[in-house]
Amino acid sequence: MEADSKILIIGAGLCGSLLAIKLGQKGFDVTLIERRKDLRTTRDDSGRSINLALSDRGLKALRMVGLEKKVREICIPMNGRMIHSKHGETWFSSYSGRTTDYINSVSRNDLNRILIEEADIHQNVKILFEHKCIDVDIENSTAKFITNGQEYNFSGDLIIGTDGAGSMVRKEIFDKRSDEELSVEFLDHGYKELEIPADENGGYKLEKNALHIWPRGSYMIIALPNMDGSFTVTMFNAHKGDKSFEQIDQKGGFELYIKTEFPDLIPHLNDLLRSYDENPVGKLGTVRCYPWQDDGKTLIMGDAAHAIVPFYGQGMNAAFEDVTVFSEVLDEKHSSWEDVFLAFQERRHPSALAIADLAIDNFYEMRDHVADEAFIKKRKLEMQLEQEFPDYYSKYSLVTFKEDLPYEDAKALGRKQDAFLLDLCRSEEVDLKDTHKIFAQLKNLKQHGF
Ligand SMILES: Cc1cc2nc3c(=O)[nH]c(=O)nc-3n(C[C@H](O)[C@H](O)[C@H](O)COP(=O)(O)OP(=O)(O)OC[C@H]3O[C@@H](n4cnc5c(N)ncnc54)[C@H](O)[C@@H]3O)c2cc1C
Repeated sequence: MEADSKILIIGAGLCGSLLAIKLGQKGFDVTLIERRKDLRTTRDDSGRSINLALSDRGLKALRMVGLEKKVREICIPMNGRMIHSKHGETWFSSYSGRTTDYINSVSRNDLNRILIEEADIHQNVKILFEHKCIDVDIENSTAKFITNGQEYNFSGDLIIGTDGAGSMVRKEIFDKRSDEELSVEFLDHGYKELEIPADENGGYKLEKNALHIWPRGSYMIIALPNMDGSFTVTMFNAHKGDKSFEQIDQKGGFELYIKTEFPDLIPHLNDLLRSYDENPVGKLGTVRCYPWQDDGKTLIMGDAAHAIVPFYGQGMNAAFEDVTVFSEVLDEKHSSWEDVFLAFQERRHPSALAIADLAIDNFYEMRDHVADEAFIKKRKLEMQLEQEFPDYYSKYSLVTFKEDLPYEDAKALGRKQDAFLLDLCRSEEVDLKDTHKIFAQLKNLKQHGF
């Protein structure tokens, strides 16, 4: 594995640009190629989710490249969920009993811009925009790009595909093989992004430091704050059937939907209506695939290898964690790129499967349970336990705030704890105030493996 290896990275989104920084810092010769315009000179959102929840795993990766402080300056802390009932009441549910635990709302474009700027500082990192990859020859580590109607070939000693959920590099790996495992599963639900702008003084019209949720069973709305006082509001609905996009799209459907289901959003109706008409419905899917590498010459990372549904707020965090783990594997001084790729794949693949499952779990939890009585009791108990016992982490906290715990361990322990606590909360006989006894039982669960 030569230090002067030429690495071609396809896709300068969140994962690709962070990877280019890290590989640039390590002295590799990197070419990063992106189909979109340069975010530093354009404000092209192209219908992508405008803000994202950044949490500890993502922050750890940013710390590794020296960007945590800079990124925190564009973050809005969200300490918990603000839940909005059908009757317009609200209640706040902290993400953790520890006051130091919170997640952050961050603009996708501003974050991506910071990453591109940092990558571009390195003499050994070359970045090209508005070059769309149209073909990848993985045998010869060459890819064909089109820009302004002209086609160009770029080659490297290796190609890393960070080209997102619809990855062309993944397609090439799987087209070549017969032993592959590839599944792309779409939820029956899609999403649409809307906006509540700032008030006339640039202030927030909803509580700023919260992730707002309007859970309604088979459909829901969420909202995350932006630095300019606005909120990005995301509707999640089935594509077809009751309260589906198909139904809401009928004339007057959206207005009626908001008025009957989300009364505290009525004051924002005009803004919501405008963005409803302007924005497309996006698909929500999970990519599970294996292998992620071919012959030590081609690798996929981030959404290209493991796109997940957004309900744990972990897709970008997982993509960033890929870069952390890849860097750790490189530091182990393997003797070939194939060994590096294999070690990376073996370490990350189980984690990717676990966070994919957890994200689907959370879809049902956010949609169906956040307003459910036993679930609310359980959340209160978890808060209490986290306040009294710093060693206790709820499933949400294991995934979101335990930055060194692999997702697969967070999933196994978290699910066990959840099942145990929900049973307690549903039982009439258990004294939920006896937290010492409950904590001892939880410790016992952990000691018996997960
Ligand atoms: C509605 C929604 C909400 C989300 N919320 C969160 C959240 O709160 N927290 C979180 O952690 N994650 C969230 N995610 C997930 C997150 O957006 C992704 O996991 C993350 O963007 C993955 O980064 P990536 O770099 O792997 O892929 P992408 O961000 O998709 O980047 C891929 C890049 O490759 C480029 N590209 C693609 N094809 C080509 C080509 N042929 N040639 C050249 N370039 C190409 C694209 O233009 C893009 O820039 C959310 C996702 C959605 C859909």
